[in-house]
Amino acid sequence: MKIQINQFKGDKSLTFEEEVSPDDLDIDIGIMHFPKPLYLKAEAWKSDNDLTVEAHVEGERAFTCSLCLEEFNNVFEKDITLHYDIKGLDSVSIDQDVRDEILLEHPIRVLCRPDCRGLCPYCGANLNTESCDCQVRE
Ligand SMILES: [Zn+2]
Ligand SMILES: [Zn+2]
Repeated sequence: MKIQINQFKGDKSLTFEEEVSPDDLDIDIGIMHFPKPLYLKAEAWKSDNDLTVEAHVEGERAFTCSLCLEEFNNVFEKDITLHYDIKGLDSVSIDQDVRDEILLEHPIRVLCRPDCRGLCPYCGANLNTESCDCQVRE
């Protein structure tokens, strides 16, 4: 999202809305990805050389379970406050900061549910949905 500085009149705030493609934000990191565009809304106001942006980002987030490798979705939502020094600038792009905030939220390891039983290390069966004889034999 690009905010043009010359749109601001006095200290009146402006509101912006945009759908952002996950590809443009470059936020696909393997265990976490975003199957649909994210919705980004921002309210911004200017005082002298400062621009303050209060952004809200939301979207559907898909994870791959670390144990059973099943994919599952949850909703991502975050409020972000950003400050920019706009001295000499015509516009400000907030995408990089929004990206950083989204990536801050990513877990190292995710489970589809707290008691996920994972995959059988011998035959690869998903033990949440099927059983196998491997552990019996062991
Ligand atoms: Zn799982
Ligand atoms: Zn097995």
